[in-house]
Amino acid sequence: MSSSSSNQPILKVENLVKSFPILGGLFSREVASVKAVSGVSFELKKGETLGLVGESGCGKSTLGRTIIRLLEPTSGKIYFEGKDITNLEGPELRILRRKMQIIFQDPFASLNPRMTVGAIIEEPLEIHGLFPNPKDRIERIKQLVDMVGLRFEHLQRYPHEFSGGQRQRIGIARALAVEPELIVCDEPVSALDVSIQAQVINLLMELQKKLNLTYIFIAHDLKVVEHVSNRVAVMYLGKIAELADSMELYKNPQHPYTQALLSAIPFPDPRHKEDRIILTGDVPSPMNPPNGCYFHPRCPKVMEKCNSQIPELKETISGHETSCLLY
Ligand code: SF4
Repeated sequence: MSSSSSNQPILKVENLVKSFPILGGLFSREVASVKAVSGVSFELKKGETLGLVGESGCGKSTLGRTIIRLLEPTSGKIYFEGKDITNLEGPELRILRRKMQIIFQDPFASLNPRMTVGAIIEEPLEIHGLFPNPKDRIERIKQLVDMVGLRFEHLQRYPHEFSGGQRQRIGIARALAVEPELIVCDEPVSALDVSIQAQVINLLMELQKKLNLTYIFIAHDLKVVEHVSNRVAVMYLGKIAELADSMELYKNPQHPYTQALLSAIPFPDPRHKEDRIILTGDVPSPMNPPNGCYFHPRCPKVMEKCNSQIPELKETISGHETSCLLY
């Protein structure tokens, strides 16, 4: 976690929506749509890390991919370094892709098994025409493997010859190759053993400091996000339920959903057990979201108005936004 170097946001997302069509009938026409991201707004400063947390299916990965334009936004606006990038196409989008990279959850599935590590790291340099001189390119690749804690001789090997943690290092080197400004880390440690998770997180934090990177760090584990994030956004069914500075959110959660997620973190002290809030039921389907507050069928603090009124995300304490009719 590093502090921001400027007050200007590097990224601004306004009322972003991402829907997917549901096709049906004889001619596979669109019969309905499902909103995976449903009107999300936030800003991110350079050098900052925003943690995006929520249960599986809450839209956090879709949000990350839509922001970096791997998915087409349905509506809303995305500004990067002050420029509207919502509808960029062609060469302009290609230039943008250099600045925004992604690290995937499963480093094995995301690395081509038929390419050597050297070729995997070189590919983005080739695509973007960087370091065209062979000597300079080799130097750059050497620098990248060194930066992520791999060795030069690893470049001749294939992904299956590496452990999960090492494969994630290869994925990080590939993402860094094009000198990005913003990296979406999409559950980068979820597939790794607990003992390896800390090493990869420490590496990401070191690299952030060294290269002044901005991260969107997606995770379902609130514990992981606490240590890497300056701010945390808790998502529920495609919307932000709560957004605050990391320390503030953990100390003073406002939204009943955040309170339940935090209460589920195991504490070594057994006295904490009595505080556990058990959520009943599953996350509703985004194809058929509930009326009113999306969380009302599971909320331990539900009120009568919650099934008809939609809460807005608003500042409930300075710098702390919550979407709940209790406030
Ligand atoms: Fe619970 Fe109502 Fe707040 Fe929704 S608006 S989180 S249902 S109290």
